[in-house]
Amino acid sequence: MIKIHLKSLALSLICVSVLSCKNNSTTTTSNTTVVPVNKDLFLKGGLAEAITIESRTLSDGTTADCYKIVVTSTPTDHDMGPWCPTNISDDASAGGIWLNDGKVYDVDGDFVKNLATFYNDDTWMLYDSETGQITKTKTKQQCLEAANPNVTEEYQNFCVECLPSFVGAVQHTYYIPVTPKKAKEIYTFSSRPGGPPPGAAEGRKRPEGRPDGPPPNHDNNNNSTTLPSDRGLAFNGVVFNAPAPVDNILEAYTLAPFDDAGGHINLNAGYHYHAATGVSKKVEQKDKHAAMIGYAFDGFGIFENSDANGKEYTDLDKARGHYDDVRGYHYHVDKAGNNNFINGLRGEYAQ
Ligand SMILES: [Zn+2]
Ligand SMILES: [Zn+2]
Repeated sequence: MIKIHLKSLALSLICVSVLSCKNNSTTTTSNTTVVPVNKDLFLKGGLAEAITIESRTLSDGTTADCYKIVVTSTPTDHDMGPWCPTNISDDASAGGIWLNDGKVYDVDGDFVKNLATFYNDDTWMLYDSETGQITKTKTKQQCLEAANPNVTEEYQNFCVECLPSFVGAVQHTYYIPVTPKKAKEIYTFSSRPGGPPPGAAEGRKRPEGRPDGPPPNHDNNNNSTTLPSDRGLAFNGVVFNAPAPVDNILEAYTLAPFDDAGGHINLNAGYHYHAATGVSKKVEQKDKHAAMIGYAFDGFGIFENSDANGKEYTDLDKARGHYDDVRGYHYHVDKAGNNNFINGLRGEYAQ
């Protein structure tokens, strides 16, 4: 009898020690792993100041410790640009990418040359037919005006790029709950058509570069909630933005390419991402799970689209998240070609 007791005691001791080792900094309650935000994953070069903790009101009205993250919106782990090639003879190294119908296209000279065919609309003519020179914004003023709500014909058929040198010192402050807290329901971002365009600060009505526009992560839409239009932060401090308002951009016969990292610049927000192309810092996972690329504004992790075998996840909820015991609840970004990251926040976010 005593032997058996000792055996089961030893067994339970083993269980306890295995559990406590495995969980380390995570807490497990009834099969629910919750992984706190690891602030050390953020690259120091992208931060304007050290990350601190502040008590903030969450979307459910409760108060919680949040990391205050002040970013410079300038990636330190990769270059910015290029966006627009100079001549239709240029190869892919001279330009960025364009996203259409789930696919990623290189914006090389050929792509610009063939836009009328690509969009089946002869109005497209972004280059000089004699010299092959591509019409693109060259100054800060041009970058501002090409994104004007009443974009004049003067700026139709432009490849729009805003260079890092046009932007002064940018700082944005974000708050992310130290420990993510699941909400009763998913907070969905507003989506077109119907409501205001996500990231309305970028739309033609509230264009990129609007000098007095609202900073990111503030209420850019007309929802009664204060749901942020931005999705989260990459480890380099660059924001995962709402989908680019591609329809508005195309309506004006402009092209506003993203660089190979999926980002571009607007004068107000600075550099920001519209697609995850695998360029910014990632944290590989030991179990062939997709690599981690940042945090959503509710504190849940954001991971790449596909696992180490290139397989997409098929059990995602409508926010594009799911749960496992290692990572707790977390998101998988949409494919780069979809001009999208995640579709909602599963957790409470800081007001
Ligand atoms: Zn943008
Ligand atoms: Zn996963």
